[in-house]
Amino acid sequence: MFNKFIAAILPWFPKKFIWIFSRAYISGETIEDAMQVSRELNSKKIKVTLDVLGEFIKTLEEAELNKNEYLNLIETSYKNGIDGNFSVKPTSFGLLIDKEVCFNHIRDIVAKAAQYNGFIRIDMEDSPCTSDEIELFRRLKAEFPGNTGLVVQAYLRRTLKDLEEMLDLNSAKIPVSYRLCKGIYVEKETIAFKKYEEINTHFLEDLEFMFRNKIYVGIATHDKPLVDGAYKLIEKYQVPKEMYEFQMLYGVTPRLRDSIVNEGHTMRIYVPFGKQWFGYSTRRLKENPKMASHIIKAVFYKG
Ligand SMILES: Cc1cc2nc3c(=O)[nH]c(=O)nc-3n(C[C@H](O)[C@H](O)[C@H](O)COP(=O)(O)OP(=O)(O)OC[C@H]3O[C@@H](n4cnc5c(N)ncnc54)[C@H](O)[C@@H]3O)c2cc1C
Repeated sequence: MFNKFIAAILPWFPKKFIWIFSRAYISGETIEDAMQVSRELNSKKIKVTLDVLGEFIKTLEEAELNKNEYLNLIETSYKNGIDGNFSVKPTSFGLLIDKEVCFNHIRDIVAKAAQYNGFIRIDMEDSPCTSDEIELFRRLKAEFPGNTGLVVQAYLRRTLKDLEEMLDLNSAKIPVSYRLCKGIYVEKETIAFKKYEEINTHFLEDLEFMFRNKIYVGIATHDKPLVDGAYKLIEKYQVPKEMYEFQMLYGVTPRLRDSIVNEGHTMRIYVPFGKQWFGYSTRRLKENPKMASHIIKAVFYKG
């Protein structure tokens, strides 16, 4: 109750206060900060996916600025020899304002990454965006088959059907690439599973579908039972290492992360950075209100 209350009033807390918590989950404000964190993770044999934090945009000028930030990030990242790829949110490039402009911006980003044989992951946003983001992915995949992938959310009732419908995108030569996650937005029960058990059951069903169809998957979870479930499926289908990886958010469950790495599986960490860290942090805290008490402790118990 207390945690939920704190989480709800967080947006009105002073920024400095939120930063005490946030710095464990955000690499910093600048590209240099992101490079530093990426190098540290790479040195532990962990790959990264870099994300420029953004907030809701209202104009196409903002979309253009966001694109330029990504182009700069891609260039900097390759110059620094970072072992990683990039994650983008289509609404940051104008999906809800002008779909064609959005497509062209993300196309430019994928084209830039492709110059370095790199990869752009299209994050999945809330349900009004799902069909448009699938369509966007289809168009990009047609032009850049090995340089782009999509996220799918296990909590959506439609996901298994979407996966079936996208099977035409898969081939033995260039497997389609998904990140499978639970899904982070608040969705209606008519379209989304709500119970923990139900979401986990569908997560493993989606994962099994991917393994059966030899699809590449980034298994994005911090949930131990799901990690164990994934291990069982990897064993059952004898999935080769080059057909999957685990993924986690920066700073979340580092012990589980390290145990997965120590078992010899590929791990990729989602590394967000940017000036918009405040919005990201307050969302993460609302998602996991237990963390709110850690902030309070960090403030009152020095050292
Ligand atoms: C790499 C990556 C990319 C993602 N991309 C997307 C996306 O494109 N679209 C989308 O909708 N969602 C995305 N998500 C979020 C995802 O959908 C879930 O909301 C989130 O990962 C929590 O689900 P979980 O599987 O970790 O399980 P949960 O059952 O939520 O968590 C399991 C345990 O993990 C720990 N934990 C989980 N989250 C946190 C946290 N924020 N802080 C501290 N501890 C935590 C807790 O110990 C918790 O008990 C992504 C997640 C990851 C890891």
